[in-house]
Amino acid sequence: MPKYDYDLVTIGGGSGGVRASRMAAGMGARVAICEEDRVGGTCVLRGCVPKKLLIYGAHFADDFEDAAGYGWAVPKIRFDWGQLMASKNKELDRLNGIYLRILRDNGVDLLEGKARLAGPHTVEVGGRALTARHILIAVGSWPSTPDIPGIEHVISSNEALDLMSLPKNMVIVGAGYIAVEFAGIFSTLGVDVTEVFRGDIILRGFDEDLRTALSEEMVKRGVNLRSETVVRSIEKSGTRYSLRLAGGEVMETDLVMYATGRKPKTGGLGLAEAGVELNEKGAVVVDTYSQTSIPNIHAVGDVTDRANLTPVAIAEGAALANTLFNNTPSAVDHSGIPSAVFSMPPLATVGLTEAAARAKYKNRVDVYVSRFKPMKHTLSGRDEKTFMKLVVNSRTGRVLGCHMMGMDAPEIIQGLGVALKCKAKKAHFDATIGIHPSAAEEFVTMRDPLPPHEGPSGG
Ligand code: FAD
Repeated sequence: MPKYDYDLVTIGGGSGGVRASRMAAGMGARVAICEEDRVGGTCVLRGCVPKKLLIYGAHFADDFEDAAGYGWAVPKIRFDWGQLMASKNKELDRLNGIYLRILRDNGVDLLEGKARLAGPHTVEVGGRALTARHILIAVGSWPSTPDIPGIEHVISSNEALDLMSLPKNMVIVGAGYIAVEFAGIFSTLGVDVTEVFRGDIILRGFDEDLRTALSEEMVKRGVNLRSETVVRSIEKSGTRYSLRLAGGEVMETDLVMYATGRKPKTGGLGLAEAGVELNEKGAVVVDTYSQTSIPNIHAVGDVTDRANLTPVAIAEGAALANTLFNNTPSAVDHSGIPSAVFSMPPLATVGLTEAAARAKYKNRVDVYVSRFKPMKHTLSGRDEKTFMKLVVNSRTGRVLGCHMMGMDAPEIIQGLGVALKCKAKKAHFDATIGIHPSAAEEFVTMRDPLPPHEGPSGG
């Protein structure tokens, strides 16, 4: 008779939890997974996937416009938001079904309901108490909003992905990637969008030239960017909202969306009571093997607030299964993670920003930039630029960072992420023959570094 009901009980059926659970079961472990909502988690149901489908949907507005320059007479077009929502929901149902099948086919028991820890080896869910040799916390994160009067009137990205109809105008509060992506979706679909944020420029943490380049493109596309602006309170009257700003100005709008960050979803889980250490943000503190302060309790994904991206949660889940059930202690390398912002136009990045490289390598940094009109827009007439940047250690020749804003940036930077993992040098980029005609070939044809300069290079 085994000592515990299961070898592994996972709380949270999202990207990290499902990957760890199904791999552990495949390695012979007896596994249960608890999910309070639908299996699939944020990425599949409230994040990456529905967002990208809406971006594809919005992009057709540009494509129809651009087609005219190529000789297409596009008849009067009509867009149906309800139809896009219905198609998106059908796809999410399909993906949810695939996740359920993966669990079933791997012999993982699914327990529906909100779970909590009731001790270092016990999880309570749906009125049952399960015992487990190992417990995995994979509960993800949730939108976080400031505590200001009227905050109950705002929506988050969760509701923005499910609107019944499009407003005429909206205010999006926040300057992170989620705020920027939704500003792109809604403005391209014809909504008059104002993005309001505290800082001086969007996308803190990204290379400064990319931040400026994208701001310029967003403004050209009609997004009203209001920097250094703080909302003090929100009032609802009828179907309209009034935002009172610090300084006294009042903004009126049809809809208010907040994308001001996310918090680990650790509230009410019983973690602190079980002795699991949390940091000041409420994230679970783990070592490189995703082990918490209690040796048989582990955590992966957004709840650990390391790099909050789906492929990272998946990699952490897979590494944990290998560590616990495959006799192969595995840690995820969190350095050099490529990432993208699916803005309009998109941007993507891998490695160090110019500022981070200069902070680390002082004057031993060369910067190469290229700014050009993409070939497609010579005929489409669209006033949109592409921007590329390479950051190089001038002493060793190592490429430290690759940054791009423009069409296909995520598809291009993914490949350069491999090059950087292989510790590629600028000489390797120079020795690579370009694919012509493409935007990507610019990355292997940038020959002259910028003259020494401080601060953003501006291209
Ligand atoms: P999740 O996927 O959030 O899964 C956690 C699961 O736990 C959920 O299903 C939840 O219901 C469940 N749960 C929580 N508490 C309990 C409980 N007490 N009992 C039972 N179940 C519980 N990442 C990218 O890489 N690329 C992108 O383009 C991208 N876009 C995004 C866009 C948006 C709008 C958002 C919000 C996120 C986006 N992300 C993106 C981030 C990505 O979605 C997350 O990093 C990823 O989903 C984290 O996976 P996870 O397993 O940690 O948590």
